[in-house]
Amino acid sequence: MKTIKRTIAEVARDLEGAANILILSHENPDGDAIGSSLGMAMGLREFGKNVVAANATVVPERISWLVGAGEIVTELPSTRGFDTILLLDCAERERTGFDLSGIPEERFISIDHHPNTAGVGRKILIDTQAAATGELVLEILLEMSANIETAIATALYVAIHTDTGGFNYSNTTRMTHMSASILLDRGVDPAEVHRHLFGNERRERVALLGEVLSTLELELGGRVATCVVTKKMLEKTGASPEDSDDFVSYPRSIRGVEVAVLLKEQGDGKYRVSLRANTDVDLSLVAKKLGGGGHKKAAGATISGSMKEATATLLDALTEAMERAAS
Ligand code: AMP
Ligand code: MN
Ligand code: MN
Repeated sequence: MKTIKRTIAEVARDLEGAANILILSHENPDGDAIGSSLGMAMGLREFGKNVVAANATVVPERISWLVGAGEIVTELPSTRGFDTILLLDCAERERTGFDLSGIPEERFISIDHHPNTAGVGRKILIDTQAAATGELVLEILLEMSANIETAIATALYVAIHTDTGGFNYSNTTRMTHMSASILLDRGVDPAEVHRHLFGNERRERVALLGEVLSTLELELGGRVATCVVTKKMLEKTGASPEDSDDFVSYPRSIRGVEVAVLLKEQGDGKYRVSLRANTDVDLSLVAKKLGGGGHKKAAGATISGSMKEATATLLDALTEAMERAAS
């Protein structure tokens, strides 16, 4: 499915006319959310625009080294002074985790690559073919003839690297590598980025991985693999909740597994669920049904109940989705 409601050029022209821009992304941000926000913020500032970037959640440590990461505020500034509220890597007010109700639709622009998302704003660019929102931000900055300095390029490279699992997931395209090539031309050092992202782990995180792997269960005849992160494990190891962010790749890597699940205990009876598919099952629909969202092969939601109830709800939804995919 390809949904482009607006072209890159239309969005670029609109941004050229904007003066005061507030950049927001989804809460619990990943490398694409933060990398896109920082890359766009720095790019727009080159044109003398007043740009503020905010996110409802603090920037994860893994990407906090990016230039400008420390300037992303976690409180929503008064939106009155901004002619444009730019949503990146999400296209719905609610996903930001901020209360944006009452702000006129005309003030928003949204740029995203998630399917099954409505979009808000005077311009909505949703390209589900893009591997990362960072690819779209790069295209827009190129269209605006922005001077893409190394700091901007590095932020966008991190965005693309994150959402493609280091250029490995099935969303990786020729365009993804072309984008990376442009970014390397602008000074990105891939080995340095990799060292920051994966060669700089806290020992608490590795200790947490040991705990989490011991919870591995194979369900539905080995088609679904689940792992759990409990509050207790975080206490025991001294790790923080975001330390487990990509642990879902371990259950995913098991032979024969079609869907991998990571359940993270949030406290107050809530679990955040990460879902990853190895086959054609549509997880964006499964997640949507559970009140979340995401992509076909990578989606998430927050569900309530005991661990047992949460797992049962999830397995029911997955069984149905896998049957649908097979038929
Ligand atoms: P995660 O498992 O948290 O890495 O998320 C995988 C994908 O699903 C990302 O594209 C997220 O933006 C999306 N996602 C995760 N949780 C939610 C949610 N509660 N609502 C909408 N999308 C979500
Ligand atoms: Mn994201
Ligand atoms: Mn993304």
